[in-house]
Amino acid sequence: MRAHVEEKIAYRTCPICEACCGLEIRMQGDQVAGIRGHAADVFSAGYVCPKGAAVKDLHEDPDRLRTPLIKRDGKFVEASWDEAFAEIERRLLPIIAAHGRDAIGLVIGNPVVHKMGLLLYFPRLAKALGSKNFFSASTLDQMPKQLSAGLMFGHWLTIPVPDIDRSDFLLMLGANPAVSNGSLWTVPDFRGRAKAMRARGGRLIVVDPRRNETAAMADQHVAIRPGADVFFLAALVHTLFEEKLVMLGRLAPHVAGVEAVREVVAPFAPEQVAARCGIDAATIRELARSLANAERGAVYGRLGTCTQEYGTLVNWLIDVANVLAGHLDEPGGAMFPKAAAFQANTMGRPGQGRGIATGRHRSRVSNAPEVFGEFPIGCLAEEIDIAGEGQVRALITIAGNPVLSAPNGARLSAALDQLDFMLSLDIYLNETSRHADVILPGTSPLEEAHYDVAFPQLAHRNYARYSKPVVPATQPAEWEILLRLTAILAGGGAKADIGALDDEFVAEDVGRMAGPQAPAVLKAVEALRGPDRLLDLALRGGPYGDMFGMKPGGLNLAKLAATPEGIDLGALEPLIPEVLRTPSGKIELAPDMLIADMARAAADLARPVPDLVIVGRRQVRSNNSWTHNLPILAKGPYRCTVEVHPRDAARHGLKHGGRARIVNANRAIEAQVEITEAMLPGVISLPHGWGHDLPGTRLSVASKRPGANLNALFDESLRDPLSGNAVLSGVPVEISAAG
Ligand code: SF4
Repeated sequence: MRAHVEEKIAYRTCPICEACCGLEIRMQGDQVAGIRGHAADVFSAGYVCPKGAAVKDLHEDPDRLRTPLIKRDGKFVEASWDEAFAEIERRLLPIIAAHGRDAIGLVIGNPVVHKMGLLLYFPRLAKALGSKNFFSASTLDQMPKQLSAGLMFGHWLTIPVPDIDRSDFLLMLGANPAVSNGSLWTVPDFRGRAKAMRARGGRLIVVDPRRNETAAMADQHVAIRPGADVFFLAALVHTLFEEKLVMLGRLAPHVAGVEAVREVVAPFAPEQVAARCGIDAATIRELARSLANAERGAVYGRLGTCTQEYGTLVNWLIDVANVLAGHLDEPGGAMFPKAAAFQANTMGRPGQGRGIATGRHRSRVSNAPEVFGEFPIGCLAEEIDIAGEGQVRALITIAGNPVLSAPNGARLSAALDQLDFMLSLDIYLNETSRHADVILPGTSPLEEAHYDVAFPQLAHRNYARYSKPVVPATQPAEWEILLRLTAILAGGGAKADIGALDDEFVAEDVGRMAGPQAPAVLKAVEALRGPDRLLDLALRGGPYGDMFGMKPGGLNLAKLAATPEGIDLGALEPLIPEVLRTPSGKIELAPDMLIADMARAAADLARPVPDLVIVGRRQVRSNNSWTHNLPILAKGPYRCTVEVHPRDAARHGLKHGGRARIVNANRAIEAQVEITEAMLPGVISLPHGWGHDLPGTRLSVASKRPGANLNALFDESLRDPLSGNAVLSGVPVEISAAG
């Protein structure tokens, strides 16, 4: 007779992508029986994509690490947590003693942003480490947007997002939200919202070299040559000036630099850029007029705009167009969210701040400027494999797989083997963590509480939502792991009392923020520990908070935890000038750095268009490279295909379903060919994050269909010089049929 297993329903924010859908998880004991969208969720209203159900596979994946591993004689052996931390202390500290703190590099991967404990506690570790050699996935896909927003609005995360539910005109570049549900724009069920916009007479236009899934549902697809977005947008802004379409409206007293922008885009008439963009001048002019004449509209750009050589200029011009067309900070336009917690531009003096700076220090080998405290991840290999004073000799990676996600993983892979010591905190033994000497397993997302620390700062609507742990913890929480590493790096030892250390950090933070009120504030949160305590502090002191009892009815963690469907905080509202943190207290429309960089673009306008270039693409059933190990996502048609236009296929002798060899300089990969009219002739596309055929990993599902690593083709030194972002789009390649 089968024992009765109690069934219960749990709610959890999906940890896989930026859309942050609310999941309803049916549990039988500690087993996940099923996952679907949480219909009552105030933010996602039951929407999920196929990846949501894959959280079950992630939780149950036998490949997911559950025990620390230590490499002994070239082989990983299981170890206790105490042994692992002792080994880290034994190996890491002598390197710091002998070579200094910059000898330890730190790499943060994208999944960190989906884990509350990791996101709130890695800064403590980074501070204790004190190394300038800090790298993250941000220089692979988003630093240009952060830099341009920081220069214009005063903070790296003051990023405007389309207010889609009230918009009637959306112009998108290098984005595919029909697949991604937004990126640097949290917008679950983009398709439903876009359909609703079109049903009320709105217009969706997609500018992209590939007729992607968003373009396929749009009113208009404008096929652009990869890398030409800077010219297209400069011409669009030029047209706004030339045709007297500039309407600053309410923002006029808050904008500086309009004339400097007018001057710098003067050489970029649509007729001048048409050939380079592959878009006729009349189309560019019509789009500028439509944008200006739209009652409620916005321009939005995403990953494809960041992975090109003028990434920062492109992302700046997107918001310049929004400002000049009168759509910034207007309902239905590009607006700023106001998150309930952790948002820097809701703290301090409203309307003015210190702004941002770059280049406070430079990388040792390439002299690349620091941006947002980090160096380009393309510099990581050279910092390890080129000897000299300040060389990186040990590395800590947290939830990152740069061997696949960064350009020229082959060089990085070889460099990692030269390290004196490497530590990875990861859920998998993957292409990067296989190089580690110690791997500490991360937790299943179902084992830890969660709050979306970052994404309400980018959401199309204000909301707050907290998820309790779904299953009991089977190992130390990730914040505890980071605190123990922090203790080791700070000299407190592997056996330090991390509870006391946490108290010490919190007391310091609260003392700084609350001054004489600090004892009362600390008392108010004394029952909490770890990320929950930090969250309660942030919520209660935040823009909707209860101010530690002074505003009864305001938000706090207890109230949020009692509402698993989340709390709707309303539509986005105009926030200028209060959201600004520039020293001038204005929107800086013409930052010196960007105006100067336009000369680089102008000099490049006449560059001949390469015969064939490659771009990446986003896929519904893929996100981070580890999603390829989840059976529910891995099944179905083979997806790591190179998409080729029929004309290119014919001239290069390629057959649908056949193999192609793709070459860039001395780097080559092979991929399966998919012939499709979706591609612009002269452009091919391969998804990224594949290439699971490297030895020494434990990814049994992914390795069965490894795919080809797009990033292996790219030169790690090719980047946007302002933001340090890698150039991963529009790179010239050759293609031929493979044997
Ligand atoms: S869209 Fe993103 S957040 Fe929503 S279910 Fe899919 S992976 Fe999860």
